Amino acid sequence: MPQIQVLPPILRNKIAAGEVIERPASVVKELIENSIDARSTDIRIEVLYGGKRLIKVSDNGMGMDKGDALLCFERYATSKLLNEEDLFHIKTMGFRGEALPSIASVAKVKLVTAPQGRYQGISIEIQGGEVKTVKDSPSIGTTIEVRDLFFNTPARRKFLKAHNTELFHIIDRVTEEALSYYEIGFSLVSDNHETMRIPVASSPRERILQIYGDEFLEGLIEIDTQAADIKMNSFIAKEGNVRNSKAYQFIFINKRPIRNSSITHAVYSAYEGMLPQKKHPVFFLFLTIDPGMVDVNVHPSKREVRFENKETIYYFVQSSIKEALPQVPPHIPYGSTSTSPSVISEALDLGYKPCLSFIYLGDAFIAFSNREGLTLIDQHAAHERILYEKFLRGADINSHRLLFPKQMRLSHKEYHIILQNRTSLRDFGIEVDDFGQDTVIVRSLPEVLREADIRGILSDIASCLIEGVAPDKELREAIAAKIACHQSVRGKTILKQEEVSQLLSDLQDCLHPNNCPHGRPTRIFLSLEDLKKMFKRT
Ligand code: ADP
Ligand code: MG
Repeated sequence: MPQIQVLPPILRNKIAAGEVIERPASVVKELIENSIDARSTDIRIEVLYGGKRLIKVSDNGMGMDKGDALLCFERYATSKLLNEEDLFHIKTMGFRGEALPSIASVAKVKLVTAPQGRYQGISIEIQGGEVKTVKDSPSIGTTIEVRDLFFNTPARRKFLKAHNTELFHIIDRVTEEALSYYEIGFSLVSDNHETMRIPVASSPRERILQIYGDEFLEGLIEIDTQAADIKMNSFIAKEGNVRNSKAYQFIFINKRPIRNSSITHAVYSAYEGMLPQKKHPVFFLFLTIDPGMVDVNVHPSKREVRFENKETIYYFVQSSIKEALPQVPPHIPYGSTSTSPSVISEALDLGYKPCLSFIYLGDAFIAFSNREGLTLIDQHAAHERILYEKFLRGADINSHRLLFPKQMRLSHKEYHIILQNRTSLRDFGIEVDDFGQDTVIVRSLPEVLREADIRGILSDIASCLIEGVAPDKELREAIAAKIACHQSVRGKTILKQEEVSQLLSDLQDCLHPNNCPHGRPTRIFLSLEDLKKMFKRT
């Protein structure tokens, strides 16, 4: 027979910690949110070894008196909820009373705090959930130090990644909170270097500018919309300002950073017809909704919410964004055919001639015919393939030192990873130097990237480095693909005759001319036979 036991508090907290505290970044998030709830205006975060050795968060908020300081490590101890009614009108970031006991059960914690206006406070040390020392101590605001996370749960410690990866997660969390709480100043010091310093701002717009720089902000449209119970201030990508990753997509509900597939879908659907395949829009949505209509008590990490009126929010977001974007002409479908055209065979001689006659279909496809049939080229995909192979071979890169080096502000994460991979970039003819304050200076560029959106390229390369492509060869391929992709999708250039001939012969010279580096076809061939079948002449 099973013997049922009520688990002791230390074990209960360890179980809760499993849900709330996944990695150092989760500790950072919880501590920052506590400082926010304590009405701080200045939050400092310090970490060692990606937060694995130390996470220290200091604030200038309202602090705690001795009684509260001793109570705050108890499970379900919170100052943010009084009754059931409050649970459905949450206005604070925390409310579950779980974070501090969870953290204290899996780390060595020291809390120093004093109530506002009283310098005399208390210092408490607690290890693996057991209080070790309690002393009087002066303090302004609250400082919490969390050392050796998961020191007593080796199974969890094992899952922690390299220092850098953990640091990137921390940077993400700080960035997210800072985007939302623009009225608070944040700083992050990692291994004794100041990684982020974000002074108090006066609007979300100014905050985005502080974090990502003015060039980034210029690529966005700000929109303010309002409906019965919803308000939205958002910053969305202008048409054509697309990324290869979803790294710049943020949704905040009543200042809480959340993930929500329905709202994300609403955004993508507003961009319908404007997004090339596998491209993603940048967006920052700050939604304000009556707290009574959002349930934030869905998950311990509070990353998800449930809406009372999901559809209304979906259409509100979709239409707000759609109205701000240029209208896309409706798509006219052609008669469908059961015969799919054959992708060009490599052996086929296209007979490219210098005075080749071709026509443009739209601004991306080039069509030309010869004796065997009709060839359709996707100009961008073809260009991408050519550039990709060029970069991979390292041939004809022709890197030039810029007369006027370009200064470029990146996000904190991008800045770190780009500087760490300077040598790999040099192989591609891109030379960057550290300029401090999240800024790099681009000194040399390959000829073909002269006119390119180099910031976009660096940020795409950074996201591919962050996502991780381990072996050396793959990394080269990934970087080459990012560069090629960025350069070739830019602008709607209509090529001249010689350029088309050049494109075709360069494509023909490629090792794998039929597909772009992402696998999309570069050229499609319809033989006379195919055409006959389509017209049902066989
Ligand atoms: P919750 O935030 O859900 O209430 P926590 O375990 O994170 O639960 O914190 C417990 C309580 O400790 C909070 O409700 C708050 O009263 C107090 N507290 C935690 N951090 C701070 C801080 N930085 N400043 C003032 N009070 C704090
Ligand atoms: Mg909390």
